[in-house]
Amino acid sequence: CFCQVSGELDDCHCDVESIDRFNNELLFPKLQALLQTDYFRFYKVNLNKPCPFWTSGSHCGLRDCTVKPCSPNEVPEGIRTEARNKYSAEVNSELDKCEKSEALGAVDVSLSDETREALKNWTKHDDEAQRFCLLDDEWCPDSQYVDLLLNPERFTGYKGPEAWKIWTSIYEENCFKPFTVKRPLSPLYSSGRSEARAFYTWLEGQCVEKRAFYRLISGLHASISIHLSARYLLSDEWFEKRWGPNVSEFRSRFDSELTQGEGPKRLRNLYFLFLIELRALVKALPVVKEGSFKLFTGQPQEDCRNKERLLDLLHTARSFPLHFNETSLFAGDETEAAKLKEDVRLAFMNISRIMDCVECFKCRLWGKLQTQGLGTALKILFSELPSSPPSSRLTLNRQELVALVNAIGRISTSIKELQNFRELLAEDT
Ligand code: FAD
Repeated sequence: CFCQVSGELDDCHCDVESIDRFNNELLFPKLQALLQTDYFRFYKVNLNKPCPFWTSGSHCGLRDCTVKPCSPNEVPEGIRTEARNKYSAEVNSELDKCEKSEALGAVDVSLSDETREALKNWTKHDDEAQRFCLLDDEWCPDSQYVDLLLNPERFTGYKGPEAWKIWTSIYEENCFKPFTVKRPLSPLYSSGRSEARAFYTWLEGQCVEKRAFYRLISGLHASISIHLSARYLLSDEWFEKRWGPNVSEFRSRFDSELTQGEGPKRLRNLYFLFLIELRALVKALPVVKEGSFKLFTGQPQEDCRNKERLLDLLHTARSFPLHFNETSLFAGDETEAAKLKEDVRLAFMNISRIMDCVECFKCRLWGKLQTQGLGTALKILFSELPSSPPSSRLTLNRQELVALVNAIGRISTSIKELQNFRELLAEDT
């Protein structure tokens, strides 16, 4: 089957089969449980920022692109006030008690050495110059909380020139590609095998960092395509809409024959993206483990349980034996590496701005969340500078953590959905 990609991924020592097993059996169920919690389901976002690159037309007007923001009383007060750090002394002391509870204590012991080491070495990352993507201004009056569970990522009907313009801008302007494009879409979009071949020859000639950057974007694109195929609008009666997997939609996007051999490569890029975000989760462990790091919703027992769940997830992530080795990127000459890292950072920053040009609000919401999640992963993995003082530390705010966990939640779900499509395709034949 074309979607049965297998074997070792390029530029890393990890095979697809190991990721499938690890994700589908271990990580996916834990992520799903965590993403149902209040802390992770409410995401603050500004969906009304104007597109900074071109005058976009009016909003697409498709019914399934609508996003329903929360009214203030739907969001737990603790989440609304958290950004201002207004914990009452009483609630803080409840949470401190929880930190000392047996469950968290047990986690502490197994981590203590690694944590101490990481805390000693980590750089202060929360500085603007270290960010890989823009964070929406939390206090901007246009920013609103959205309940992600009530606004799931699925087929919206957003397509055609508007959607292509976004993808084209992302690939053309931000993938360091030297091609001049004669038509609206890049060689990737073309029907010619020779152009696609030329692109891959060019890509293979690039340094590992630029290849990795392209793969991340392509992996994100693949994930969106899987979601819209897995939660496709199957029927639309006045009394009911039915959503579910659409095998022919999936096939049209990934079948080797129908995509001139591109589909399986795109699926491999999805696995690569998974490895990057998984590695970032592991590296976030010491920050989350710290006693002062609280998943604050204002309900101390729930917060404590959520922290336990999150730590358990991060431990599970750590148990994966074939992690991507991020030190293989931006290695070599320090000045060159710093310049390359800055190029990548700015390019990714641009991609996060392009998300404000997506005209379908639902697609914009998930596009922003996932680029912010990936941006957070890159910040965790790469913002440390050799010259940074050893005493400074990585910090993550709520928005970044929520975006990161939801982003890997999306990729993990895509990998699980792939399994489902494999079974459906096998039934078809
Ligand atoms: P597109 O997916 O638009 O792709 C255009 C071209 O890019 C293809 O012809 C192909 O040559 C190339 N390409 C495709 N996949 C890859 C890849 N993985 N790597 C490299 N090149 C590739 N639609 C929804 O229904 N629900 C959503 O939630 C949603 N979210 C979106 C979020 C964003 C940020 C954007 C830009 C679009 C979103 N869309 C969503 C639209 C969706 O991505 C497609 O654009 C749309 O379904 C039209 O698909 P298409 O077949 O024309 O190809």
